Amino acid sequence: MDTQLFEQAKPILTTITDQGYEAYFVGGSVRDYIMGRHIHDIDITTSATPDEIESIFSHTIPIGKEHGTINVVVEHNNYEITTFRAEEDYIDHRRPSNVIFVRDLYEDLQRRDFTMNAIAMDQHYQLYDYFNGQEDIKQRLIRTVGNANERFEEDALRMIRCLRFQSQLTFDIAPATYQAMSQQMSDIRYLSIERIITELTKLLAGANVAVSFYNMIELQAFDYILFFKNFKMDNITVTEPISLELFIAIVLAQQPQSDSLKQLKLSNRQIKAIQQYVKLITTLPDISTKDQLKLVVYDFDVQLIKEIINNRDILSANDLATAQPLIVNQQSVAEIERLLPIHQRQQMAVNGGTLMSHLTKPSGPWIKEVLRQIECAIITNKVENSESEILKWVDNHVKI
Ligand code: ATP
Ligand code: MG
Repeated sequence: MDTQLFEQAKPILTTITDQGYEAYFVGGSVRDYIMGRHIHDIDITTSATPDEIESIFSHTIPIGKEHGTINVVVEHNNYEITTFRAEEDYIDHRRPSNVIFVRDLYEDLQRRDFTMNAIAMDQHYQLYDYFNGQEDIKQRLIRTVGNANERFEEDALRMIRCLRFQSQLTFDIAPATYQAMSQQMSDIRYLSIERIITELTKLLAGANVAVSFYNMIELQAFDYILFFKNFKMDNITVTEPISLELFIAIVLAQQPQSDSLKQLKLSNRQIKAIQQYVKLITTLPDISTKDQLKLVVYDFDVQLIKEIINNRDILSANDLATAQPLIVNQQSVAEIERLLPIHQRQQMAVNGGTLMSHLTKPSGPWIKEVLRQIECAIITNKVENSESEILKWVDNHVKI
């Protein structure tokens, strides 16, 4: 059993309980512990208020204090400690900004999304399971705590979380829970795109994504998500775990349109990856020589090329052409990358200035063109990357 993180965090629970308050492990860590899965982080819930937690521990960070969360740092480890709370006043199907702190564990567990996520565990590994979460875990079932329609009415994100957990855990969804999702999915249009993207990214990366993605389509969830609602998402298939970036690139490659990615509020790094993926998806199938591949390996991020090669089957399933495996494969790409004479333009032994004085020509758009020709010649090993060799090559090969 993976108890290392719990053991490490135990002194925190003891410190809080020694002061007369209650404190428990809760949420994903307890669920994963019961399932025998790897535990990646620990959430702690307590009857102590944020102010009380701050007075108990010497090193605290008030990261989400208004929602009841204080980060406590003990021996360089950071723990999120959240005060028991009940939620009320859901506005527009989103979680409220107002929270009410309570002193009762039951109330805190009752506001949690699914029975498997509503189990608390004390420092002696004693479980507090008021909603039959353990039984549902045994049956591999995702079920809302309480009435599904009401819980999704309060916070529509829970419907996407449900599909995300189905993908990650390979669980079934309880019939009443699924039924409520089929009735209320349109409410996800009120959610912030950031919250949806966080869950969608996890959903796409889950082992059981084929089933969850099918359910996303069946429930017409994409009709209510910015950007995606402009595409025929029922033409898209996801059969294996995939990154969000490659997923979006597949959608754009299959159904080209200028609709702005900006709406998804992704990072610049993500947008760049998507753009490169789209270009690669259209470029790689046309490659028929090793020299062409060398240029692609030079021009694009090699990780992204490898990712596309790994996902041939998904591309085919989405009616996208794939590269010729005899020329474009993991080995050929790795080998070419290893032998690339240069990795960026700045490493070329000549620049615009060298060319202007060698050819005694004034500056102009020709420089960019000639530099690119030289760059291609270096990459495809037609000329060595030294100034004298390059200038000789220019004299013989370049018409200006
Ligand atoms: P993971 O393993 O991905 O971290 P998790 O179950 O811990 O899964 P989190 O998003 O970290 O998921 O949330 C921690 C806990 O907070 C959940 O287990 C659940 O009890 C509660 N929770 C999170 N989001 C919601 C929500 N929208 N509605 C109700 N409870 C929620
Ligand atoms: Mg968690």
